[in-house]
This record gives sequence, C-alpha cells and structure tokens, in this order.
Amino acid sequence: MENPLLAPSPDGLPRFDAIRPEHVEPAMKALLAELGGELEALEQSVQPTWTGVVDPLERMGDLLGTRWGAVGHLLGVRNSTELRAAHEAVQPEVVVFGLRVAQSKPLFEALVALEKSAAFAQLDPAQRRIVKLLIRDARLTGVALEGSARERFQAIATELAEHQTAFSNHVLDATKAFALVLREKAEVEGLPESALEVAAQSARAAGEPSASAEAGPWRLTLDLPVLVPALQHLKRRELREQLYRANLARASSGASDNTGLISKILALRLEEAKLLGFASYAELSLASKMAPDVAAVRKLLEELRKVSYAAAERELAELRAFARAQGETRELMHWDVAYWAERQREAKYAYSEEELRPYFPLPAVLSGLFGLAERLFGVTIRAADGEAPIWNPDVRFFRVSDESGAPLAAFYLDPYSRPAEKRGGAWMDECVGRTRVFGGGTRLPVAYLVCNQTPPVGDRPSLMSFDEVQTLFHEFGHGLQHMLTRVDYGLASGIRNVEWDAVELPSQFMENWCYHRETLLGFARHFETGQALPDALFEKLCAARTYRAGSDMLRQLFFSLLDLDLHDGYDPGGRVTPFDVQQRVAKLATVLAPLPEDRFLCSFGHIFAGGYAAGYYSYKWAEVLSADAFAAFEEAGLENPAALRVTGRRYRDTVLGLGGSAPAMEVFKDFRGREPKTDALLRHYGLRAA
Ligand code: ZN
Repeated sequence: MENPLLAPSPDGLPRFDAIRPEHVEPAMKALLAELGGELEALEQSVQPTWTGVVDPLERMGDLLGTRWGAVGHLLGVRNSTELRAAHEAVQPEVVVFGLRVAQSKPLFEALVALEKSAAFAQLDPAQRRIVKLLIRDARLTGVALEGSARERFQAIATELAEHQTAFSNHVLDATKAFALVLREKAEVEGLPESALEVAAQSARAAGEPSASAEAGPWRLTLDLPVLVPALQHLKRRELREQLYRANLARASSGASDNTGLISKILALRLEEAKLLGFASYAELSLASKMAPDVAAVRKLLEELRKVSYAAAERELAELRAFARAQGETRELMHWDVAYWAERQREAKYAYSEEELRPYFPLPAVLSGLFGLAERLFGVTIRAADGEAPIWNPDVRFFRVSDESGAPLAAFYLDPYSRPAEKRGGAWMDECVGRTRVFGGGTRLPVAYLVCNQTPPVGDRPSLMSFDEVQTLFHEFGHGLQHMLTRVDYGLASGIRNVEWDAVELPSQFMENWCYHRETLLGFARHFETGQALPDALFEKLCAARTYRAGSDMLRQLFFSLLDLDLHDGYDPGGRVTPFDVQQRVAKLATVLAPLPEDRFLCSFGHIFAGGYAAGYYSYKWAEVLSADAFAAFEEAGLENPAALRVTGRRYRDTVLGLGGSAPAMEVFKDFRGREPKTDALLRHYGLRAA
C-alpha cells in the first residue's frame, strides 16, 4: 500500500484524511534517499542552463517542501506526542539535506556560469532575478569561500547558533526563576478577573493546589500574559515597581547572565559579515532586504522619530496631568505609565471586547471579507467544502476564481482554537505554490489560513473580537499574495523571494479596511437582532487605534534604532558597552529616560536569539508601505466604487501579482508611481494632520 504522505490527492493536495504519524518517518526517509540520489546525479551532470540547474533545483525543493510542509502543518494544527516524535526523528536529516543543496559547490558554479553565459540575456526578468537570488543566497551561506576562510565561516555559524540558543535558554530560565507570590486580597487590588485566574493557575502549577482566583494565593511572573496586566492594573505601586525592576534585570546576573553573550554574538556577526565582504552585519542583513541601505533605513526611522517623539512628549504630559487629577501626588515613574495609561484609556474610550463580539459572527465577517476582495480585486470566492481532504471537521475549503470564472487558487480556513492539539496565534502558510515546473499546465496555489478564535457554542456562531477580525483580514492579505500571483516560476511565485521587510505589506494593508466605515459597517451586524454596529462604538474603535500612538511608535523606533546601532558601526571589542549604546539611543528615542541599571538588552531575544538582527526596523518599514498603499485607495476615493476597482486592479497586478519576481521597491513603485512615503502612516495614527 502506498504511503499517503507520498501520494497526494488527484488535485495534488495532501491526504489529510489518511496521513498518520506512523507514515512520516518511512515517507520522509524514502523521499530523502530519492532526492539525495537526484542531487548527486545532478551535481555530476549539471548544465549552466535554466533547465539544467534551476528547474531541477525547484523540483527537488518543491517535492521536499510540500511533503515536509504537510507534516509541519499537521504539527501546528493536529499535534500529538506521536507526531512530534516522528517529526523530531527525521528533522535533522531534512535540515542536512537542505544545507547540502544550499552549499553545493557544483550547483553554485553552474548558476554563476549561467549568469555569465550568453543565454542569460535570453531569460525573462523574473528568471534572471531567480538566478541572481539563488547565487546571492548561496554566497550568504559561505559557498564561495575557500580554505581557512570557509572553515572559519562554518565555525562561526556553529558558534553563533550555540550562543543564540544559550541566550534564549537563559531568558527562559531567568523568567522561570522569578515569581512574586501574593497572599493578601488587598495586594492584588485592581487586577481583572482573567489576570487573577491566570495568577491562581500559576500558583497551582507551582505547588499550591488550593489556589483560586477569589482567595489566592496569586503568583505573578514575568511571562507577558501575566506581567502586562499586572503593570496595567495592580493598584499597589510598590508591587508594580518590584515587577518592573525584576523584568529589566532579567538574565543579567548569576547563572543566566547574558551580558557576555551579547558581546560575543555581536563580535561573531561582525566577523561573519566581514568574511563575506560586508562592512557591518547590518549591511549583510540588508543585502537580502527591500531597504536599499542602512542610510535609507535611518532616514525612514528618523522621519517617524521626529514626529512621534513630539507626540510622545505630549502624551506623557497629558498622562501626568490625568494622574494628578486622579489624586496621584508622586512623580510618574516607569512602573506608573502602563497603569495610568489604562485608567486614562478607560476614562476616554471605555468599551469591552465582549460588547463588540455579537456584531462579528464568523459567517458575516467572511462574507464581508470576500465581498471586499470581489469589489477591489474582481475575484470570486466560493465555498468548496468536501472537495479537499481536511484534518478536522471544522476546517473549511474555498476556491478563488477570476471575473471570467477561471480558477485561480484555493485555500483552507481553520478558524477555531483547539488548545489540546493546535498551536496558538494565527498564520498563513503555503500548501502548494503556483508553478509550471511539473509540466501538464499550471499548478494553482493553495493556502492555509489558520486562526485561533472562539468556537461556536450550540447553534450560536463563532462570535469574533475586533482583534480576531483584524487578524483574519491580516492573514487573508498574506493569502492573497500567495494566491493571486501571476508568476509561473515556483521560486518567485506568491510570497517566495519577497523581501523579508516587505512581506507584511499585503497583510497589514488588509487591516486598514477594518477601520473603513463602509466596509466594517457593511458586515458588522448583531447576530441575533441584525442591527448594524452602532456608530458610537465604531468611533471608539477608531479613537482607540490612535490612543498613545506616539508613545507606541517611539517604543518600536527605540528598539529599531538600538538594533541598528549595535549592528552598524559598533565595535563589540571596544570600551563602549552595549548598555552605553542603549542609553545613548534612549536620549533620542525615549521621553522617560531608562534607569541606569536597565538591562533589557539581556532579554531582547528578537535580535540576539531570533531572526530580527539588524532587521527590527522591518516592522515599521512594512507598516509605512502598507499605510502608503492604502492611501492610494484613499486618494482614489474610498466612497467611489469605480475608482476603488481601478486602484484595486492595479494593486492586484503589482503587489499581489508580481510577488517575488521583481524587487519589492520596483513592485511598490509600479503600484504607487513613486517610492514609499511616511505621511500616510503618521496620518492614520493621528500623528500628522490629514
Ligand atoms: Zn503577518
């Protein structure tokens, strides 16, 4: 009997109805053996032509990617001990195979020869870009280095991986090591019910079996779901201060001290960059991003910083005045800001998520979202449940077609939370991408959209919070870029080869429509009465979006600038410490100076253990792009359906259609007619007049 993981449905989709954990190991081992043989044969006979090297690379990558991708997908949505074990058993071999391909010298040399050959000019621009990026990415894995440089490069890579793992383990250990256990009801005054429940649960897990939300004890930790509400709501100021100080000292002393690792990581990154011919790690990071250079990133951050700094100062003054008016006589300190900001928010825009939920039943939200896609992009989306194997009875399947009814794509939607087997959060992922490499016509793209919203209860539909609505729009935006691609080369279709700092453009773009009155009020209807969302609630939603927007933006800019300064022009072996850099950047990008003992860098996992090194700016970069793209629709006239259609088609043909087949800056200029500007983002957040 054939292994279902290796035998997709007639449509080319994974057999989710038949794949079981016991299929994973034999299937992947067989596939890796086959691909290993193919790779060897290819290395022997590789030709410096498109069909001689690029096509085979795509085919091998696709076979592995779709099969292993289905396993990864199941790990996220139908996790089990057996599946995890099967995944872990083959993962190392999958990684090794990927590295073998990425670092193959014969393939690299064939690509370089192709780029130098006369045939290169005959390729179309998308093909030429694919070849260039394959060469670039191979170079970034050190494939072009020789002798001792190559050895040193490999050693750095290994050492960096170890240090980064140690960094994040230290953060975890230090987080676990701290707890503030409270036993008096008066101490937890102010904490909302949900936070009390989490704190009691934490106490139970730590050996206090009788702990309850009503009677305690309550265990406060530095985990964000506990820390954030505690800083926002605890009335006792000295407890907030204790938590705040513990948090900024995390992983900065004792057995889990990250101080030394920070310098080592920065030094190794700089050395790695220099081996590859870059002046700094920031240059290395930007080599594969949309931002042209460090100066361009700094220019954008500075434009935002000037405006948000002034706004943050105003917001702080306003907050001080508010706290004083409420009877607070002491000076506003770091551990007071979140607390008073929440009181001010309540006073200004009080509404609860629960008030909104009845207006957002999933079926209405979906029809609103699909209607928007139809109006803007001319695509039709119809339910096609039963036409593809699924992994859970709640999963939906949809097909997307164009104006003429021709099929374009399909997607799965897995909307509800299933804590026992499904990862938290929301994401879009590729099931299969658009390509012609397998012959027999074009394989159409299929996406996974996964959310974690409240399931239906009885005959009551899933009622979504406004956040969940925005999340669905966001993931659908990623999905549109994957699905509406017109590129037939699998290595550049959809989201593939889209620069990392541009990936969030189509997703955040869609979120903007949740604040567009006609769009939102067009589908937000009470699930029982059919009554439209009251105007007053809509106004509050919009006001809440811009509440303390200057402070929030400045905080992100502080992280971005600090990340950049540590990876550009900083000497990790010199006399200036990373904490000195932190204090220097803080002068420009905080309105309340950090305490001298602030060691938050020791737990800044994004840049020392995650993928954001010299890339933290990407959050703001992509937000500028998405806001500016939305502004094109505002300029066309949000109340003018014909103008929206024209602009929507242009957006579909460029941002959504071209995917990674052209540099993101060119794609953006194709759509917008010019380079991105920060004006729209600042205006949307109320930081600059309309
Ligand atoms: Zn996203």
